[in-house]
Amino acid sequence: MIASVLPTYSRAPLSFVKGEGSWLIEADGRRFLDLGAGIAVNALGHAHPALVKALTDQAGALWHTSNLYEIPQQQALADRLVEHSFADTVFFTNSGTEACELAVKMARKYHYDKGAPERVEIITFEGSFHGRSAAGIAAAGSEKMTKGFGPLLGGFTHLPFGDHDALTAAITDKTCAVMVEPVQGEGGIRPLPDACLKGLRDLCDQHGVLMILDEVQCGVGRTGRLFAHEWAGINPDIMMVAKGIGGGFPLGAVLASEDAASGMTAGTHGSTYGGNPLGCAVGAAVMDTVTAPEFLAEVNRKSALLRQKLEGLIASHPEVLDAVRGTGLMLGIKCKAPNMDMVNAGYAQKVITVPAADNVIRLLPPLTISDDEIDMAIARLDAAAASLA
Ligand SMILES: *Cc1c(COP(=O)(O)O)cnc(C)c1O
Repeated sequence: MIASVLPTYSRAPLSFVKGEGSWLIEADGRRFLDLGAGIAVNALGHAHPALVKALTDQAGALWHTSNLYEIPQQQALADRLVEHSFADTVFFTNSGTEACELAVKMARKYHYDKGAPERVEIITFEGSFHGRSAAGIAAAGSEKMTKGFGPLLGGFTHLPFGDHDALTAAITDKTCAVMVEPVQGEGGIRPLPDACLKGLRDLCDQHGVLMILDEVQCGVGRTGRLFAHEWAGINPDIMMVAKGIGGGFPLGAVLASEDAASGMTAGTHGSTYGGNPLGCAVGAAVMDTVTAPEFLAEVNRKSALLRQKLEGLIASHPEVLDAVRGTGLMLGIKCKAPNMDMVNAGYAQKVITVPAADNVIRLLPPLTISDDEIDMAIARLDAAAASLA
């Protein structure tokens, strides 16, 4: 008999009942050190006081009115995002994959309105992940996500990750946009080198192609800059954001330049819940915290500390662990043992990591993790690796 919850997930036998900072408390009372942060969602850890206050204050005042009316919380969050990014304008969604849907629509509408309706092809990369909506699975294109789901949304070309020559060859007069994660998350913490991102920007400029960055996982301070592309010194035309921006409350956004967004006039897109007062109140508190002086400098300092300790960990367990990769607090350990064995061994030591493709485990701790917690993380990962040796 089918489970009452549709069985699309293979879940670990863990059930958490409370969260405090970098810690998750299991129903049986065990305290787990959370290096997964709900897959890079709980950017400020669990129950951060500023977020709890923003949510509960708003919950006592007003939950929902719809986008038929002005939503001051939405305006306030959009203003913050515009102030701190390349973007001139923001549309709010409830998730990453909804942001993907709009990014695709926006890019196609842009060319349509500029008199080039044939420019619909969007170039994406193998190993990418853009969510599970129709556009999201068509964009990523992997058989694992698309098989059996009938005709896919057309107009996507999939190229090997980081292959500049293939990219140059693939751009035609039908190309609408290139969509890429600056750091692949699900794909196994694979950063696109800054030089690649710069080259991609130049190529897009030469051919009038829009650059869409998917910063759903790598954005909002995760890499040590507010947005990952800042490291390369370039700006996209359109950017998808979600996960960390809500700090645990469902919230996503599409950020765009005025030009890229020019086709999206009244009535061309919408959402019932997108940009609701609850999500936007929390999002504004996340933005205020992450953009406060020294916050990102601390993320970078802790990243260097964690990375250095991970190098030591890997050196002590050469038969289980292979190499560390990634940037900021978006780190991956390429494993020699099966990555799920390492994740499960971590559970036994009360430390949470997240598996990814390419036999990698992801470390995506709260950006607020302390130095002591980093030491505890290493000690627990050390015990986990030792248990597999
Ligand atoms: C998680 C993720 C998505 C999808 O977000 P959902 O909120 O699950 O729809 C899209 N792109 C990237 C890079 C992601 O990591």
